[in-house]
Order: sequence, then structure tokens, then C-alpha cells
Amino acid sequence: MTQIRFPGNDFRHMESPLRLEADILGLEVIQGAVPEDINGSFYRVMPDRRWPSFIENDIFLNDDGMAMYFRFTNGRVDFRSRYVRTPRFEAEEKAGRALFGAYRNHLTDDPSVAGVSRGLANIITYFHAGKLLAIKEDSLPALLDPLTLETIDPEYNFGGAVTSKTFTAHPKIDPITGEMIAFGYAAKGPATPDIAYYELDATGHVIHETWIKAPYAGMVHDIGVTQNYVVFIIVPLRSEYEWLERNETYFKWDPHEHVYLGVLPRKGKAEQLRWFRGPTRSHGHVLNAFDDGEQIHIDGTVSLRSFLHFFPSIDGSPLDPRDATTFIERWTIDLASNNDTYTQRRLLDIPGEMPRIDPRFETLPYNWGAMLGLNLPDPAQMAEMAEPEGGLDAFSSICVFNPDDPKSKQLWRAGPKRSVGEPQFVAKGKNAAEGEGYLLSVVGRNDELRTDLVILDAHDLNRGPIATVALPIRLRTGGHGCWVNTDQLA
Ligand code: FE
Repeated sequence: MTQIRFPGNDFRHMESPLRLEADILGLEVIQGAVPEDINGSFYRVMPDRRWPSFIENDIFLNDDGMAMYFRFTNGRVDFRSRYVRTPRFEAEEKAGRALFGAYRNHLTDDPSVAGVSRGLANIITYFHAGKLLAIKEDSLPALLDPLTLETIDPEYNFGGAVTSKTFTAHPKIDPITGEMIAFGYAAKGPATPDIAYYELDATGHVIHETWIKAPYAGMVHDIGVTQNYVVFIIVPLRSEYEWLERNETYFKWDPHEHVYLGVLPRKGKAEQLRWFRGPTRSHGHVLNAFDDGEQIHIDGTVSLRSFLHFFPSIDGSPLDPRDATTFIERWTIDLASNNDTYTQRRLLDIPGEMPRIDPRFETLPYNWGAMLGLNLPDPAQMAEMAEPEGGLDAFSSICVFNPDDPKSKQLWRAGPKRSVGEPQFVAKGKNAAEGEGYLLSVVGRNDELRTDLVILDAHDLNRGPIATVALPIRLRTGGHGCWVNTDQLA
């Protein structure tokens, strides 16, 4: 019998695998009071490896997906977490050991699992048309029961309508029509440049499909969606099948390649696609996008080079943390112009990631955003962020801002030895103004090896937490989540 050992891992870090499926009813409130008008579930997912990898220096993006919720009922908060039962999870559970090899490289797998989906459902939870999805962008979503977190379908293809092999971790919902705008990159398999574009109606049925080819194969992590257009964001974190055959990383940073923005009218055909080209940059996440008919603005986190330090540069150049620092920038495409470029301008002078908006303003002009603030400029801290085992406490603040008025920004710092997870906005009732409501965030107490859920006033961070809810266990702060009101769950 193989001994179960996680190499170099003594379980004393916030980012170590937890391997625990939990039900904790009535979480303890250690500060303030949970507002009784928050009713619904805060879903999130974290990578949480079940079996030690047989790959040296494996990366956390290759860990099993652990879905979880914080359920709010009139001031009470319950917690549940469950592994997503992917085909990969089931196969390894049966074997009692890891069978799947390196991140996105099926050539390194145990021969017994040839052809089995490598999906991990470990990047985001997303809710649309009454369905809760857990997604990793290299495979199809897993469909989960929103009440129990049981896995209903580990390879959900929307009733056979999605033929792409992959599905984005960052779809968007049009708040006016209820449509979901989505895509899959590497849609024909590993390192292919094909992108499948889908629009789904408010009931979750695919109503539009278009296939396009990117200028090069690489990571297409997010998409800009406006009322009239979609913008595919191609940045040079490239992939080549040959690299897999040589047992190299799936992605590599290519400093010699341009950024391409592919603009397609909503429900457009491939022949309507127009490419715009810009200088080498990395793009993390879209904050929001909107258009006025002629100009398209895409606001998101941008750096000179990808902060995913485990994907090396093809020229071997070392990663300077300053180059990997992300700031919110606005990229503007002028459709009336004949040239194929776009402009870029920094919106906010403080570095950050995991940007979020009030979802009622997705695809529309907006005045409120939130993100995690990065403790910079301090290269040492940046280096610490680059090592997940170190505790990720470079993200230790939350910032809210008006993208058109940088002076409006407010910052809440979680304090020393704290790491903060992606902020989740919850509107204060249906008639709330933009950004009027709460921000929920998991906060790792790195010195106590456990996690709090913090509730902030989304319009007034200076108040400090309205409530702090204590978990007796630790959670990884990385990973994305979503909020679902109780009436949406009914
Ligand atoms: Fe993401």
C-alpha cells in the first residue's frame, strides 16, 4: 500500500490541502451582528487536493475542486463544503491515489485513466437559470445541487448543446435579458486556437453558437461583454501541443507576442469578427465592459507580464514581481476608426486583483467596483504572493472605487497575517442603488490557521466590518464565488 504523503507539506499552512467535507451549523459571530436582510447563499470553490500528486512541483490549479457555501438565514450563517465528484475525483477515490499527472497534460496520466475527463471544477461557482455550476476552464462545468452541493452531472453540456470540450470560468449575465454569454477556449482540445462562443437565454438554453480561431493558442481567461458586443481577450500566455509532448508546462509567457482583442457583435457570426492589436500585456480579470455604439470600453486587471509565476517565459527571463503587478486599466476600442489598435489607460493607482462589480450593472455603464488590494510596492511581499504555501497575505485589503473617480476609493485592511479572498457583493434589497449593500469575503487568519467570513458595508468600508463570523477551520482564499438570493433558490 502506498503511503499517503504530501511532499513538503506539513498541513501547517493556510494553503495546504484541507481534505475535509464539512457541515457547520450556526457559525459563531465573533464581532457585530449579521444583518437580517442578507438571505441567500455565498457559493465559492477552492482547490483542495485529495491525493498527493506524483508530479514534482505540481501547482494548486491542479487540485480537486471543493465547493462550499455560507447560507444566510435571518442573521444565522451555516456552512457546508463538498468535493465536486468529477470523473477524475471518482477514479482516484477508487484507486486511493492520484492517477492524473501534470496540470493540463494528459500525456502524464496513469494509462488506466486514458480518455477520462481531467476536469477539476476548482476555479469558480456560477449560478444561472436555477443551475449551480462549478467550473474549471479546461473542461465542461460540473452541475451541482445548490442545496446539498451534491454533484448532479460532472460534465454538464447544457443538454448536448455545448460541443466545445471546454467552458469558461468567467461567463457573464446580461442583467436586462438574463442571457448568459459564455465561451470555451482550446475548444477542440489541448493547445488548439479554437474558441466556441455561446449565448444562452434566461432559461439556460443555448440560442447562439459561433466558432472562431484566435491568432494563437493560449489562455483566454475572461471576456468583455457589453450590450452590443463581446470582446475576446488574447494575451501571450501561449500553449503549444509540442510542449506537452516534451513534458513542459502547458502555458508559457511569450514576451514577443502581441495582445489581440477580438470584437464580435452579440450573436454575431465568425466573419463579423474584427481583431485589434496592442502591446504585450497580461490580463487577469474583467471588471466590466460597456459600449456606446462606437466605442467599447473593457476595464480589467492588467500587468506587463503574467503573475502566474509557475508558467515560465519562453526566453527564460526571470519574473520581476513588479512586472507582474496588476492594475485596473481601461482598454478602449474605437469601432469608427480604420486602424486596428486600441488605447489603454490606468484607472486606479493602487494594484489589485479579483475585481467585482454590482452584477446588476454587468455589460452597462457603471460607477462602482471592488477588488482585492495588493500590498505593494514591496517586491518581497510580491514574492511571497508568488508562493501559495506562504499564505497569500499579499492580498490583505479590499478596495471599493468609482472607476471614473479614482479619488473616491476606500480601502479596508484586514490587518497583519491576514489574507483576503475575492469580495462578493450582495445588494441591500431589490431597489438598492448601485453598490448599496454588503461585501462578503473570507479572511484567512494565518497565525491561527483558520478563517473568518467578514461582512462589510459596500458603500462605507471605513466603518470596518459589520460582522465577523468565525469558522473553526481554514479555507484557501483563492478561487471565485457567486451570490444567490434565497428567492432564486426556491
Ligand atoms: Fe478567474
